[in-house]
Order: sequence, then C-alpha cells, then structure tokens
Amino acid sequence: MAKSKYEYVREFETEDKLLPNVFILVRIDGKGFHKFSAEHDFAKPNDVRALNLMNHAARSVMNELDDIVLGFGESDEYSFLFRKSTDLYQRREAKIVSTVVSLFTSAYVYYWRDYFPDSSRPKYPPVFDGRAVLYPSEVEVRDYFAWRQADTHINNLFNTSFWALVEQGKMSPRAAEVKLSGTDSKQKNSMLFEEFDINYSKIPAIFRKGSILLREQIPKDMDKDAIIPTLPETLPGSMVAKATLFTVIENSSSSLDTPSETTDSEN
Ligand code: ATP
Ligand code: ATP
Ligand code: MG
Ligand code: MG
Ligand code: MG
Ligand code: MG
Repeated sequence: MAKSKYEYVREFETEDKLLPNVFILVRIDGKGFHKFSAEHDFAKPNDVRALNLMNHAARSVMNELDDIVLGFGESDEYSFLFRKSTDLYQRREAKIVSTVVSLFTSAYVYYWRDYFPDSSRPKYPPVFDGRAVLYPSEVEVRDYFAWRQADTHINNLFNTSFWALVEQGKMSPRAAEVKLSGTDSKQKNSMLFEEFDINYSKIPAIFRKGSILLREQIPKDMDKDAIIPTLPETLPGSMVAKATLFTVIENSSSSLDTPSETTDSEN
C-alpha cells in the first residue's frame, strides 16, 4: 500500500524496548479498591470470592501469554514474571504492560458473575494500573516475591486484628487503630488469641500468604488432550483456599527459563 503524506507522524513514536536477557516483572493493582471493595460488599478483612476472581483473571492472562512462568496475587494486586528470554512484542514495554492489564481487567469483569452470582456485573467498571520492572538475576526475583509475600502477611495480620477489634470487640475504627499502633506481630498474635480466640496460624493460607500460579512444563511426547481436560476452567474456591498454590498447564516444547533454573538453554 502506498504511504500517505500523513505517515510521518509515526516517527513521533518512541522506542520502549526493554533490556534483553533480564527478567520482566509486571505488577498490576486495582485503582481505588478500598472503595470498590466497600461498594461491592467484600467481606472484611478478606473476601475469598474476590481473591478467587483475581486468581481466575490471572489464569486468563497466563493462558494467553505463554512466556509468563509465575504469578503471585494478594488483595487487589497481581505480579507476573516473564521468562528472561521472552521476545513477546519484541519486548516493547507499552505493548507488554497494556496487554497484561487489559486482559486482566476484561477477564475480571467477564468472570465476575461466576464469583458474585447475585449481580450480573460490577456496579461500575473496575480499573487496574500496571508497571514493568526489570530484575537482573534470580536473587532479586526471589527477594521480589518474598517482599510481596511479606506485605501480604503484614497487611493481613493488621487487618485481621483491626476487624476483630471492630466487629467482635465493638471498638470504633479510630479506637482500633490507636490500640494497634506501635504493636508488633507478636503482640497482635497474642491479642487475637487471648481476646478473640483466633489462632492466626489457622487462618486460611490464601489470606496469610497470597496465591501462586505456576506454569508447568509438559514433556514434548505427552498428549496434550490427555492432560488439558483435567484442568477445570473454574477452580473451586475451596481448592484454591486450601492449596494456595495451583498450576497452569502448558503444552510447550520450548524450555522455560524459570527463576529456579540457572542456565538459559534458549539464549
Ligand atoms: P490505589 O488506587 O492507590 O491502589 P486502593 O484503594 O486500591 O488504592 P490498595 O493499597 O491497593 O488501595 O489496597 C487495596 C484495598 O482493597 C485493600 O486495602 C482492601 O481494602 C481492598 N481489598 C482488595 N481485595 C480485597 C478482598 N479480597 N477482600 C477485602 N478487601 C479487599
Ligand atoms: P494486532 O494484534 O497486531 O493488532 P490485529 O489482527 O488486531 O493484529 P489490526 O491491524 O489491529 O490487526 O487490525 C484490526 C482488524 O480487526 C482489522 O483488519 C479488521 O479485520 C478487524 N476489525 C476491527 N474492527 C472491525 C470492525 N468494526 N468491523 C470489522 N472488522 C473489524
Ligand atoms: Mg496502592
Ligand atoms: Mg489498589
Ligand atoms: Mg493494592
Ligand atoms: Mg489490533
């Protein structure tokens, strides 16, 4: 096709290719989910339906984008780790981040009814933002996930204590905040146990530790159809809650340079 005289405006687009051979991590986070969760009557401190919907949306992302090897979710956020050697969109940052965010958001809305059967759709369109971060080695990748999981734990212990004081202890939110300020984990744990009979370590792992999605590699010679049907399209909530960890299965002949491997056979 002949070029039009307007074609020159394309030259204004800037290059945003991400550095080769480093891990690409994309994290998405819900915009204003403090309000969104209240408007949709999420259970406090943790609504398991909302977490399972997040997990389902993340699974949709991983089913579409083969190069994501690991996902981690908590609250209104999800992190996706790409294999080092991914060449998705020639590593163009805007294409990668916008595709992840868009797919996650549309899946969140698409599957809403499966988790909130009393409403056919959310009251207003939810928004997620996204960013890409590059990590040079497995050390930072491991520390990244440790950081997010520590965040899950700290927030959950605080929120569990806060809502115990408010709902069971009949304290005002302000008073509960004052009571908790300056307390360490040990003090929160014993307060929960002594005043509210809550054994923190018995709280479901999905609340304390978040959710992990791992991609499993299927050997080349294995029959794809023999395996895929065993993976239900909708994972039952109890299964996710109990296991915290579940897998996405891929029939892939390429090797995955997962963070647990030290060599990249493809590079
Ligand atoms: P921002 O737009 O800056 O991200 P935010 O309101 O989304 O603001 P976050 O720090 O992302 O704030 O926190 C998300 C909030 O969403 C939590 O503090 C909690 O109130 C709520 N939330 C998210 N998921 C759940 C859930 N599964 N159950 C109950 N509440 C949830
Ligand atoms: P890429 O993922 O690279 O963007 P693409 O298949 O989306 O690939 P585009 O160049 O974006 O390709 O073109 C979008 C295509 O979608 C059009 O060529 C056309 O076939 C189809 N399409 C989009 N909107 C309409 C529409 N309203 N009616 C009919 N076809 C449409
Ligand atoms: Mg925030
Ligand atoms: Mg948020
Ligand atoms: Mg958040
Ligand atoms: Mg297109």
